[in-house]
This record gives sequence, structure tokens and C-alpha cells, in this order.
Amino acid sequence: MAWFKRPNSNLGPGDNGEPNGDSNGDSNQDFGAESTFAPVSDDGSPARVRTEGLWIKCPGCRTILFKAELEAKLHVCPKCGHHFKIGALQRIDLLLEPGYTFVDGNLRSTDPLNFTDIKTYKSRLHAAQKHTGLNDALVTALGKLGHHDVVLAAMEYTFIGGSMGAVVGELIARAIDRSLASGHPLIIVSASGGARMMEGVVSLMQLAKIATGLAQLDEARIPYICLLTDPTTGGITASFAMLGDLNIAEPGALIGFAGPRVIEQTIRQKLPEGFQRSEFLLEHGFLDAVVPRAELKPYLIRALDFLKTPA
Ligand SMILES: [Zn+2]
Repeated sequence: MAWFKRPNSNLGPGDNGEPNGDSNGDSNQDFGAESTFAPVSDDGSPARVRTEGLWIKCPGCRTILFKAELEAKLHVCPKCGHHFKIGALQRIDLLLEPGYTFVDGNLRSTDPLNFTDIKTYKSRLHAAQKHTGLNDALVTALGKLGHHDVVLAAMEYTFIGGSMGAVVGELIARAIDRSLASGHPLIIVSASGGARMMEGVVSLMQLAKIATGLAQLDEARIPYICLLTDPTTGGITASFAMLGDLNIAEPGALIGFAGPRVIEQTIRQKLPEGFQRSEFLLEHGFLDAVVPRAELKPYLIRALDFLKTPA
């Protein structure tokens, strides 16, 4: 939170201007996690009121938003329409009717390479599991989307960047198998930085496994819809996130394979405005539609009405 510096530092504890531990550069941070203001209480003495975690700054328009209001608007900025990231569980709750069931949540990574970078992969997994309450970066649920029975899988970006290792690959393969067995359409909501490098080639092998399953789904004429959310990059974009019968995205989502800086350095050219955002991709034929979050559910119901019509 380097942008939030208070000149006067005598306003109480937690006021050292240090970042709040979230060092991934994500701008969806709590505003006011350290903020206090000092009105005067009834007896005339200064009363300190903490406004911890109540406010958040919109990265789109820099408006300070009241968190409760933002939640009521499905985490979309009421001023500029910026779509904040939401978690896998929130996403499922947003799309499915009450009464859905979670499946396959018990798989955990075995750390096949016994990998260590600056930390051990095991400790990263442990921290992510503790932080998210999930076993890995994907959640699968069975339930109803409007009047359609569906298999819905949603990725959790806060779990090691939504990266795909053996567990995410296996969960998607199982979701595909559930679609094949039941004939219910498959919807995958992607939010990922790509393959999980801590699992090396094991993570890359998932791409072939998933693509094979999706081909079977295609042969069985079962609809598969991809919903790309911010961000969908790397091996995810290069595989299942772009293989849908219908590929749609939320507004303003970063979608691409390599990052813009890498591309600029490689081709030695300045990239155009809005490059790798949903609207740019739609314009250039990589997406079928850009759908605002509030319209997603009715849009998907209509799309399934259409896709499930027998030929
Ligand atoms: Zn905004």
C-alpha cells in the first residue's frame, strides 16, 4: 500500500505505512486497513474510531468505495464498472441456484518434484490451503443454473495464482467425466496465471489430459462454455480456457499467453491501447462475447437454451 502515506504519524498503532503483506501487486487491496480518524466524543475527549477494512479503492477510477456497497453490486464498481476479482466459492454462489453440491474437494497435491525455490512448495501449499480453506486452486460444484443442470468448475486466483498443477488438472478431468456421464453441460470459470511451475512437466501434462477429455465432450455433443475472468493467462489461455463451444469473458479482464512486457521486449514495439483486455480480444475475434457480471447468469441460461437444442 505504498500509495497510502499519511504525513502525520501520531494517529495510533498500525501506522507505519508498511505494506499489508500482500506483495503480488494486486490493486484490490483493503483501503483503510490502517486508517483511523479522530472525531470528538460526548465528553469532549478525542475518540478514535477504527475504519478497518470498510473501504476499498477502485483501481479503475480511484474512487474510495464502501465495501458493503461494493459487495451488494457483485464487486463491480458502481462508478466506472471495474470488475473486482471474486473467489471461486463466491462465483459458484453467484451463478448456481441454492442447493448445489461441491464434489471432488478432497484432492491434495503430493509435491511430485519435492520442489523448493525461495520457499518449499509444501509450505506454499500449506499457506494457500490455510488462507483459502481449499485444498487446491479449483472448486467443482453440481447444481442448477436457472432450469439447466450443469457441472460448474471455478478457479481460485488467490491459491498460488490460480495455477494449474496435477490436482487442478485432475479436478477438471473429473468434471469432464461427470459431464460425460450425466450429459449435463460443463462451465469452467478461469482465473489463473498459468501452469504451476513447482510441478514442472507434471503440470504441463494436464493440458493434454484435459484437451483429450474436452474432445470426448465435443463428440458427445455436450456443451462446454468457458468464462474467462481477470486474469486468464499462460497455459490456461493456451488450453481449456479457449476451447469452449462458447468463449465469453468479463469486461476488462486480462487475457493472454505471455505478459505485455515480455511481448514488447521480444517484438521491440509499443503495444496498442487495451491490448490483452476482453474488449480488444472480442474485437479481434478471440472471444464470442464480453458479458458484465450482473448479466452473466441470464446470458448463460439463454446460451444453454440455445446450445442444448438438438440438431
Ligand atoms: Zn471504479
